[in-house]
Amino acid sequence: MHQTFSFELFPPKTEKGMKKLKTTVSRLQALGPEYFSVTYGAGGSTRERTFATVDWLRSQGVETAPHLSCIGAGRDEILDILQRYRNEGIHRIVALRGDLPSGAGLGALGDFNYANELVAFIQSEFPGEFQIEVAAYPEFHPQAPSAWQDLDNFRRKVEAGASGAITQYFYNPDAYWRFLDDCGRRGITIPIVPGIMPITNYASLARFSDACGAEIPRWLRKRLEAYGEDQQAVFDFGVEVVCELCRNLLEGGAPGLHFYTLNQSAATLAICERLGLGQGAPAA
Ligand code: FAD
Repeated sequence: MHQTFSFELFPPKTEKGMKKLKTTVSRLQALGPEYFSVTYGAGGSTRERTFATVDWLRSQGVETAPHLSCIGAGRDEILDILQRYRNEGIHRIVALRGDLPSGAGLGALGDFNYANELVAFIQSEFPGEFQIEVAAYPEFHPQAPSAWQDLDNFRRKVEAGASGAITQYFYNPDAYWRFLDDCGRRGITIPIVPGIMPITNYASLARFSDACGAEIPRWLRKRLEAYGEDQQAVFDFGVEVVCELCRNLLEGGAPGLHFYTLNQSAATLAICERLGLGQGAPAA
């Protein structure tokens, strides 16, 4: 089985951040990933920085998949961005809704309410020209009224023409395997690649996880808390735990892994090296 791996970056705000990103990319590119993706702030908040990061990656010959979030955007703006990417020879897009600014009502800000509408728009304007990845939530999206409705909404994205999905990160592989079973029962057959969040800083991971609805199991929280300020211990333990998770996923037949690098290479590299990913070799 050919299992792919990919890395996610965010567009840096400063020269220093860009320098760090360049180092991270050159280290991770040596592993021969399928592609690097670049996030895009909801409402176009990182628009120019995302373009600049994508342009730099392309200039280095790196396979690049820009994210595109639609909330707050008009159809013309989205069309312009897609045309730009198509003209640059980009053929993979990660299509998202994005997060609403607090207090904003659905539909009050732009032409799209949900990611399935963006996927349908891309397919109608550029039929078959982009491979479209969408987000999936094995532990369910925090705003979903129920697990079943979230699964039905995921299916809408697939029916609109998504070619693959990347999951929100999780540390409990059972959530992923059950999600896959539920998708199978709904006739969803696209590859659903687990999103992997390396653990390097407990406080920021806990904050972020609470906001996006990703669970840190109690045993893991307790152990990470117990390491306190010992960053090296957190790093070593994090690498061990995430490697175990990745092994479970790859051995169980996941189609690949997508790493949320946060523009840092050390933890992702350590995990990939331990797993034997790299040099263009298939993961398993
Ligand atoms: P949707 O699929 O639209 O779902 C959002 C919510 O609405 C869910 O609760 C769903 O059940 C419900 N829903 C969906 N469709 C319908 C419908 N037709 N009718 C009624 N309810 C519906 N954010 C960014 O801003 N920029 C990024 O670059 C970015 N990259 C990401 C990458 C990955 C892999 C992941 C997992 C998330 C990323 N996010 C990003 C975060 C994402 O934008 C948020 O999680 C957002 O809240 C939901 O986006 P979505 O595309 O999953 O939305």
